[in-house]
Amino acid sequence: MGRTYSRQKRVLVTGGAGFLGSHLCDRLIAAGDDVLCLDNLFTGTRRNIAHLLDNPSFEFMRHDVTFPLYVEVDQIYNLACPASPIHYQHDPIQTTKTSVHGAINMLGLAKRLNVPILQASTSEVYGDPAVHPQSEEYWGHVNPIGPRSCYDEGKRCAETLFFDYHRQLGLRIKVARIFNTYGPRMHPDDGRVVSNFIVHALQGRPITIYGDGSQTRSFCYVDDLVEGLIRLMNSPDEVTGPVNLGNPNELSVRELAEFVIEKTSARVELERCDLPVDDPRQRQPDIGKARELLGWEPTVALEQGLERTIAYFRDLLGEDSGAVARLAPPDAAA
Ligand code: NAD
Ligand code: UDP
Repeated sequence: MGRTYSRQKRVLVTGGAGFLGSHLCDRLIAAGDDVLCLDNLFTGTRRNIAHLLDNPSFEFMRHDVTFPLYVEVDQIYNLACPASPIHYQHDPIQTTKTSVHGAINMLGLAKRLNVPILQASTSEVYGDPAVHPQSEEYWGHVNPIGPRSCYDEGKRCAETLFFDYHRQLGLRIKVARIFNTYGPRMHPDDGRVVSNFIVHALQGRPITIYGDGSQTRSFCYVDDLVEGLIRLMNSPDEVTGPVNLGNPNELSVRELAEFVIEKTSARVELERCDLPVDDPRQRQPDIGKARELLGWEPTVALEQGLERTIAYFRDLLGEDSGAVARLAPPDAAA
């Protein structure tokens, strides 16, 4: 994608064939931008972007962000990184490389082009938080050597790099700390709680509750999250973040299970399983900054969002009952 005389903005979305990235590509295209979607298809799929491939404003490039990239764009959204524990723990060294080398490469690109760059960071930078709800001022409680560390510390190091490029080189940066987000195009076998519960309910399998199910999360619908990312990217230069983006509506994992059972009308049992190591006890974003700086807050209620997500998985599993088996486990990093 070279520079041409067009007034359309050219936007790079790394991780653009993934769950969040593909929705972001949709929104940018709908807004009239040109999109360069870059992905190594580790957890992303062509299926997520199939409807965009014939669009002249859309271009897909298979590339791994741990390698340098030379393209011409006006904005960069850096989303490339597996997000679910099963996927990021599959090849933890590659996960850290993706966050750290990926950030260095994308920041280098932003510096050469002198364009703004947004980092998809995560609530995992807060670890198993000792402060509740989590505001951006909280420095976190993170195990540096556990099975989640490749992701948590990789993302923390990426934030460090973003702020050093900003302080040292004056780069325009935007750091979004994304809390649990769900919706259509989640990977059906990524082991995340919303997709697991829905897929199990639709397949008549027991709903797997890790631990006693009293741990909490706050779930944000994908459309709301994407709106937040776009607002952050287009905010004034002095708004660097980090800004929490998520839905403050907190509920326990057990409550979520009951809600999914009700919404799918499934007749399934709850099955108690071991709690994963370092599983955070509670998570709820303080979104005061996002409200104040971006005029943003979630608008989609959990009930509405779950209905749309259930409808997506019904279609996916109905149209292709082998989808779950075939999509997992991811075994190719490039
Ligand atoms: P996802 O796994 O669906 O998407 C990640 C995408 O990045 C995939 O398409 C994958 O193939 C691609 N990718 C991975 N490694 C790559 C590499 N080295 N080079 C190029 N592409 C690579 O996950 P998602 O839920 O869409 O998450 C997107 C981003 O948002 C991630 O950075 C994640 O850490 C962050 N995030 C997501 C959530 C959430 O709840 N979904 C929460 C916090 C943060
Ligand atoms: N979880 C669960 N059953 C599942 C999948 C997840 O009880 O089948 C729990 C998990 O232990 C965690 C919560 O749900 O406490 C959210 O897990 P997820 O992997 O979706 O996100 P994260 O832990 O990264 O917030």
